[in-house]
Amino acid sequence: MLTLETIVALCKRCGFVYPSADIYGGLNGVYDFGPLGTRMKEHIRSFWKKTLYQTDKTIIFFEGSLLGPTAVWEASGHIENFTDPMVDCLNCKKRFRADELDLTKACPSCGKMNWTQARKFNLMFKTQMGAMEDATSVAFLRPETAQAIFINFKNVMSSYRVKIPFGIAQIGKSFRNEITPKQFLFRTREFEQMELEWFCKPDQASTDFLFWLSQRKNFYEKLGFNMEHLRFRAHEKDELAHYSKECTDVEYQFPFGWKELEGIANRGNYDLSQHEKFSKKDLKVFDEETKESYTPHVVECSVGSDRLMLALLCDAYHEEEVENEKRVVLKLHPAIAPITAALLPLTKKLSDATFPLFNELKKKGFSVQFDETGSIGKRYRRQDEIGTPLCFTYDFESDNDKMVTVRDRDTMTQQRIPIDQIETIIKEKLTY
Ligand code: ATP
Repeated sequence: MLTLETIVALCKRCGFVYPSADIYGGLNGVYDFGPLGTRMKEHIRSFWKKTLYQTDKTIIFFEGSLLGPTAVWEASGHIENFTDPMVDCLNCKKRFRADELDLTKACPSCGKMNWTQARKFNLMFKTQMGAMEDATSVAFLRPETAQAIFINFKNVMSSYRVKIPFGIAQIGKSFRNEITPKQFLFRTREFEQMELEWFCKPDQASTDFLFWLSQRKNFYEKLGFNMEHLRFRAHEKDELAHYSKECTDVEYQFPFGWKELEGIANRGNYDLSQHEKFSKKDLKVFDEETKESYTPHVVECSVGSDRLMLALLCDAYHEEEVENEKRVVLKLHPAIAPITAALLPLTKKLSDATFPLFNELKKKGFSVQFDETGSIGKRYRRQDEIGTPLCFTYDFESDNDKMVTVRDRDTMTQQRIPIDQIETIIKEKLTY
């Protein structure tokens, strides 16, 4: 059984993820991404973007600001409703989410039974802008990327000259002052979201919701997820937000249970009409066919890239017994693996001859690594552990016959191939 601790340890050991401000004892619910984590996240973003482009739909990429004025969050309902119920233990002073505890039982931290009343805690990070500290200088770090899209919907439509239906997609940081950040990258206070807001005519929204649902299913299949660890759970009527027409959560079976990975929702025209109401700006569009104006409806697909990275790592993690030794291997999709190919001289004597091959591939934009330290067996294991799908080994014959050995991560088979085929082999692996 895979434990979260195994993944956390691997992430730190190999340079995927470190606790933020590690040398100062860390910052709760905040993480830094190391060399491999940075590359893996880059690959996750590209995969998400590319699958949107591959739909033939009009998708426009956008980047909104992280800071927003109070008015935006009043209109969106975050000031009023973006809260979790919180209780304190009066004995040990620890804070908990009231909805995650049985308040008829003792404190899980100190064992005493001394709770405060549950009260609402707003999850937004509030800050001041400028030198004056008054109500007008208050700003908030965005708790989701979506609102920047809604408030720019008209700007994008007119400046880019697009017609309904179209989507605006954004990747960027969001901030939530979670009461109890936990389970590593699953619930953090600073995280990245990949969100698509799809604008359509009201009578198209239900059909488009189903379209995006199937697209998102394709995305997870293409990523190579074990589909037994993934489920699409439609919300019951009483679970839906009041404005939401239909909503399906993509859930993954993490080591700590089935949890939400992505939310897919038909949000009606709630968001745009709220911003119309509060900003008093017209956000309607004119329908050439019916000669009437209407407020577009929105289908949203929202996934956290850090949470997705954790799910991918859990799904890819395998331990195998090879020649009486444990082999740890991350069977990541080649396009997601942080390093696509490792270039390995059989011994250090061959480093000078191997290095130009690495350099050439690097210059062409491939995610490659050069590794000359340790036995070749050890180096293969190291690459297995970080999910590198291909290793190319340069040996004492290579100079003469212009061939190298390619080793496959999953099958561990080795084959001698001409050096001038390296690039083609890598490209083949990366196709999806
Ligand atoms: P949860 O119920 O788990 O708090 P949510 O329903 O509040 O999630 P949404 O507001 O729908 O989440 O956000 C969309 C996506 O953003 C989530 O599916 C998740 O992948 C990601 N996400 C939300 N909160 C966090 C967080 N604190 N840390 C990491 N990722 C998050």
